[in-house]
Parts: sequence; C-alpha cells; structure tokens
Amino acid sequence: MAIQTRKERFDTLAPDEPAYRWKQFTAALFDPAYSCWSDVAVLPKILREKIQTTIPWLCVTESIVQQSAKQDTFKALLEVEDGNKIETVLMQNPRGAWTICVSSQVGCAMRCVFCATGKMGLIRNLTSDEIIDQYRFWMAFLKKHPELPTRISNIVFMGMGEPMANYSCVRDAIQTIITHTSIGETRITVSTVGVLPRLEKLLNDPNWPHVRLAISLHSADPETRKRIVPTSYDDFLPALSDWAKRYLKKFGNRRHHLTFEYVMLRGVNDSLQHAKALVDFVSQIGHIRVNLIPYNFTDGGLQCSTSKGLEDFFAYLDTHGLTVTKRRTMGEDIAAACGQLYATKK
Ligand code: SF4
Repeated sequence: MAIQTRKERFDTLAPDEPAYRWKQFTAALFDPAYSCWSDVAVLPKILREKIQTTIPWLCVTESIVQQSAKQDTFKALLEVEDGNKIETVLMQNPRGAWTICVSSQVGCAMRCVFCATGKMGLIRNLTSDEIIDQYRFWMAFLKKHPELPTRISNIVFMGMGEPMANYSCVRDAIQTIITHTSIGETRITVSTVGVLPRLEKLLNDPNWPHVRLAISLHSADPETRKRIVPTSYDDFLPALSDWAKRYLKKFGNRRHHLTFEYVMLRGVNDSLQHAKALVDFVSQIGHIRVNLIPYNFTDGGLQCSTSKGLEDFFAYLDTHGLTVTKRRTMGEDIAAACGQLYATKK
C-alpha cells in the first residue's frame, strides 16, 4: 500500500488554493496552540472541513507508551496508516530538556548483529510526514503531561531503520523541523552504518542540512566489522576514511565534527588489538569523536564488555589522543535503549 503524503492529499483536495495556503497548513502542524484541524482558524472554514475528512491531524497513532523506572525515558509504539508499527523514544537530557530518538524505516535491511530492529528485515521506508509526526507526537504527549519539562531540544535518528537508505524523506523531514521549530542543525544527529553512495551524495547536496553525523563503525578491523555489520565489505574502511577526510575538509569546524559509534561487545571487538586498530584508523583521518556504547541486551547471544574491559578500552583511546566519550544507557528496562527497538504489526 503506497502511503500518500500530506502534500499530495492537500494538492488533490485544494488544487486552486494559492501557494501560501500550503505554508499556512504546514506552519499549523507545529503551532502548539492547535491540537486538531478545527482549531486552525487561519485556514478558511470550508477548506478546514475538507482537510478534516481527508488528512489526519497526526499520521501516527499511539498504541502503547511505556515509562522507565527512573522516569527519565518514555518509549512509544506507534501505528502508521497501513497498520505497521514503529517505535520512538523520549529521553531526558543534561540540558533539562528532552532528546527524541526517531525511526526512519519500518524494520531495517542492515542486519547488525546486536540490533533487534535488524532482525525484522526491511518492511518499508517511512514518509517524511511519518518521521515529522514522531516529533509532533511527543510535543502533544508533553502538552498532556504538564508535570514534565516541555522542551524538546535534540533529535537523534537512531531509532528503527538506516536513515541514509531513506535519504530524501529524512532530509525533507529534517528541513521541515528546522524551519518550523527552534531545533537547529547542530541539535540533530543522523546515525548511519555508512551507506557510502548516500554519504557521497550529501557532500554535494545543497539541500542537505548540516546536521551532525554519527557513523556506526563498531570495529576498525575489516573482518570484525563484517561480523558485526554484515553489509560491510572488504574496501569499506579505506573508502570511509577517504570520505571522512573530504567531509571534514569541507564541513569540519569547532561545532561540526564526525562521530564514530562503537558498540562494546565482549570478546568480539573490545580487545587491546581492536583498540590499537581503532586508534590507527581514527588518527589518520582527523578530528573524530569516538563514542563507546555499552551493548544493550537483545537476544543475539552477545554480551556487553565487562566494566573493566570498557574502562581499559576507553583509557587506551584516551591516552592515545582520541576524543572519546561513553554513552549513558537510558530506558534499558523498557527496551528503549540503543539496538532494542522492535515492532511487529501485532
Ligand atoms: S543498528 Fe541501525 S542500521 Fe543496524 S540493523 Fe539496527 S537499525 Fe539497522
């Protein structure tokens, strides 16, 4: 079932409206004063009535919202128009605001071994409306919960799916959010396993917003990486290195860097040799931040590195001059942490 976008539906029901009507329509979606089409007095009544019957105010519907024991993370299972389900997460951040983690696809084709979404396979790309409405869903949720902080300050594309495999919808969704909210480019992070043709494309795409990019590296050893990310291939690491150098030359500055994500898997990619390979790989590229992610249990027979293993790995990178951070794990008890998102139609 092909999902019609809001723009396609709007053009069908209002073909003779002046161009500014579409702008009013889109702006209304982000206006916190409105919660349904009948509120949007800026649109003529007759048009509002037509819209109300054909374009849902939100194109995602809440199935379940779960809350972590610490009450700092919420996970929503949302249903989209064709009955598929996606997950999105709301996490408190150190700014006293919220970061939302959004999905870009139903399922994912990349099959990373540590990831629950990868086990679903790819069902379909989300439309840009379905990506945007994960943000709008959380805005509406926070409006209903005045006891919680109200502001969403950051968005990460680290939910279900590979964002670069849904390039144009992700790009359009980000552009729309940046235009209609106070969330700037550097408050948005797109995480990718490194779909190189798309990474190449964004280098020369004038419409690609300069959001932060996080590449899921997981190993600087080609064989280990292939074991963790089965879509990796022999020449991937040199090709990534070449791309990253050109990216940093073109866009790198104090506020704009690249991050390599590295999930810590016991006995798989956390040895001293792996740390050395990572230092060698990163050092020849330039300013890269390495983010170590403690592995979150799914059911792939993998284990997180021990605390000591993680600390030793961190210390090795740190003492060899890398900028290294460790990700806080949030929402593990409601399977909302990295790599745990999974949804079925049922
Ligand atoms: S980690 Fe990301 S790219 Fe890999 S399978 Fe999961 S959703 Fe897909």
